[in-house]
Order: sequence, then structure tokens, then C-alpha cells
Amino acid sequence: MRGVDPAGALSDMHDGSPPGLGQSLRIVICERLTKTKARPGKTLMTVHTGRHFLQIPGPTNVPDRVLRAMDMPTMDHRGAEFAEIGFAVMSAMQRVFRTKQPVIIYPSSGTGAWEAAIVNTLQPGDKVLMCETGQFAVLWHGIADKFKLDVDFIPGDWRHGADLEQIEARLAADKAHKIKAVCMVHNETSTACVTYPLNVRKILDTLKHPALLMVDTISGLGSLEYEHDAWGIDVSIAGSQKGLMLPPGLGFNAVSEKALAAAKANPGMRSYWDWQEVININKAGTWPYTPATNLLFGLREAVKMLEEEGLENVFARHKRHSEATRAAIKVWGLETQCQEQGAHSPALTAVRLPDGHDADHFRKVVLDHFDMSLGTGLNKVKGKVFRIGHIGHFNDLMLMGTLSGVEMGLDLAKVPHRSGGVLAAMEVLKGRDAGQASKVA
Ligand code: PLP
Repeated sequence: MRGVDPAGALSDMHDGSPPGLGQSLRIVICERLTKTKARPGKTLMTVHTGRHFLQIPGPTNVPDRVLRAMDMPTMDHRGAEFAEIGFAVMSAMQRVFRTKQPVIIYPSSGTGAWEAAIVNTLQPGDKVLMCETGQFAVLWHGIADKFKLDVDFIPGDWRHGADLEQIEARLAADKAHKIKAVCMVHNETSTACVTYPLNVRKILDTLKHPALLMVDTISGLGSLEYEHDAWGIDVSIAGSQKGLMLPPGLGFNAVSEKALAAAKANPGMRSYWDWQEVININKAGTWPYTPATNLLFGLREAVKMLEEEGLENVFARHKRHSEATRAAIKVWGLETQCQEQGAHSPALTAVRLPDGHDADHFRKVVLDHFDMSLGTGLNKVKGKVFRIGHIGHFNDLMLMGTLSGVEMGLDLAKVPHRSGGVLAAMEVLKGRDAGQASKVA
């Protein structure tokens, strides 16, 4: 909304603003105007103070340090100064993926990185195994369909991680090794259920099945433990706008030697997404096309922040916030969408509302009253689920603000619940048993 004046509010403000009020200050003021209510012929604007709470599970909040790092003059992307940054982000991403293999960075969303994984390694008619863990698995399946892959889609109820028994059964039955890849979503952002890639790798190894293991860790990387090399992953797929704390606009593929060999042997058509072309030009610290230069400045800073905190600490922080959130949900008497013990996502929590209560209406109440955006339910769970993002640039007090907004919203939207969830979350954050909250209350 920067510089946009949807209801003429900014021009009104300009009329009344003191002479000499700088454009940048006007923009800041404009940014603080948030549309709250519309009535015929007129849009009311309310001035909001403080920061908007962006608690969707991505795009996530971008740290000021990262914003400042991106606030740079555009640079010659073929020059030596840029090459330094190019090399720095390539090796930074190897550290984040925990790989010694190349990481290909695209100016793209995560969807582009999905497509890149497919077009580099697979051809029309190739058989792939996928699991219906939720909406993002469905979307990836859709892309595979468009490239005329033969998809065996293991059904799921959107409340669990991938069905490992079914994966094992399908691979065991595939004696002719027709399945060329197993494609899985690490952190299913639509349901908040995790599937652990190492479990799938173990199945492939036990069966000595040569299929490639491709993992969408778009909302996992930088918030959940991830080991591209040690877990034997062939293609990892990620995006910038989740745990990496950047705006949307970068897509990533980390690729194993086996995946690179599959790509070399694959005559399928591709140009923009061709790994080898990018890898060749990356040797000079740049890309075959104009890279998203300022996002790369931000990426360098974001990885610096993750490493200053320590990746292990980053993962532990996400887990704590997820536990505290579930403690609140338990006291509220609501259900998490994820029903599998041990599969709850550290990055976000999807919450079901009781039948007869619309989750999108609830989200609107929270937005209107508290200027907080919660994630909507997607596809099958539209209106049934809302999602709390606790991913990326986030801390204990931001979580308390978030959960307070949810608890107040439940009350205002007349969703049946018990109060005291926020207190239970506090106990978890203080390192105590959440059960003590009821004694405190
Ligand atoms: N996969 C997962 C798990 C996601 O969460 C998302 C986006 O939220 C995507 C894929 C699609 O990524 P993008 O919207 O960046 O194309």
C-alpha cells in the first residue's frame, strides 16, 4: 500500500498537513492508515498505532536489519562487487541447507522452484509418488500433471503427515523401479503437519529403491531442523518468504550429485530453470539472467542473523513457540488441525473452529479489532481452520501479543471457548508446566 491512497485519505491529510511535511513522512503516515470498514460510497480509514501483526505462515515479518540491508542502490550484477555478494549467498545457503552441493537460487517464488525440480530431473510419462498431506501437496501434484508425469497420489486426510506405510508399500511393490521420484512436503503449511524426510530416505535405502527424494521445505527451511546431505535428499525446494525472513521472490533448489546426474541425462526441455546453466555461470559469482540483486543483499543479512542466533537455537525457539501455542489451544478447548502426535509443526499451528463457526469471519474480527492477520484455511479446510504463524523473525512477546489477539477475538466472535489459554502459553514460555496456568488463574 506504499504511496497508495485508496480512499482519498492521503489527499485529505495532505490538505491539512503542515507545509513542508516531507514525502517520506507522508508515506509513513499513509502506511499507518489501515482500511477498517467500508460503507456505500465511502471508505472509512482508521489510524493504527504500532506495528501490524503479520501472523500468517508466510510471507513472514522481515527484520529491520534485513530491510536495511536491501535498502541499497542497485548494483552492476556483472561487476566484481556483486560477485562477492553472489559467492557469499551461495555458500550461506549451502550452510543453511547443510550441503556441500550446489544451491541454485532463482528469482522466483517457491512454485518456480517446484517446477525447476521437475523439469530438470523428470520427463513426461515418468512415474512419481506423492502424498496428499494438504493443499501444497495438491498444488505440486497439479504442476506434475501439467508436465504429464504419471502421479501416484497417496490419499490423506489433511490431519497427518505423509502415510509412510503406504509409501513403503508402493515402493516395495515397484520391483521394476518405475517410480523415478518420491515428492514430499516437509512442513505442510496448510495443515501444520510435518513429515520427516529422513523417514522416507530410510524406506528408500532399506528397499534399495533408486527413486530420487524431492522435498518441499518451503516453510520448513530456517525454522525446522533440515539436513540436505545427511538425510540423503536429492532435491530440496525452498523459498525466501518463510523461515528465511525475506520478502517473497527467491526460490531455491539444493541438488545432490545423483540429482545432477539425472538432470544431465534428462533430454526434457527447459531453459530458465536449467540447473547446469545456472551452476556454470555461478562460478563467476553471478547468474545467467538478472538476479534479484537487492533480495540477495537481504539474504546475506538474514543468514547472518540466523547464524548469530545459531541454527539449533532457531529451531528450538520455533518448537517452544509451537508448544506454547498448543498449550493455549488446549485451554481454549479447541482442536489443532494436526492430529498426529510428534508431527505438530514448529513453524505454524492450524486451529479448527467448532462447527457452525466460520474461521474467516473470526479472522476478520481479529483483523478489524486488533490489526492482526492470521492465515486463512485453504481449499478443503476453508472456513474451518485458521492458522497462526509463529515462524521467522519472532519472539516470546510477539507470541503473547498474537495469542492475546486470538483469545480476545474468540470472545468477540462468540466462538465457544474457555479463557486462560494465554496464561497457559505464558507458563510454557517461562519454562514451566502449562498445567500451572490453571492454578495461577
Ligand atoms: N509449498 C509450501 C509448503 C508452501 O507453504 C508454499 C507457499 O506458502 C508453496 C509451496 C508455494 O510457494 P510460493 O507461494 O512461494 O510459490
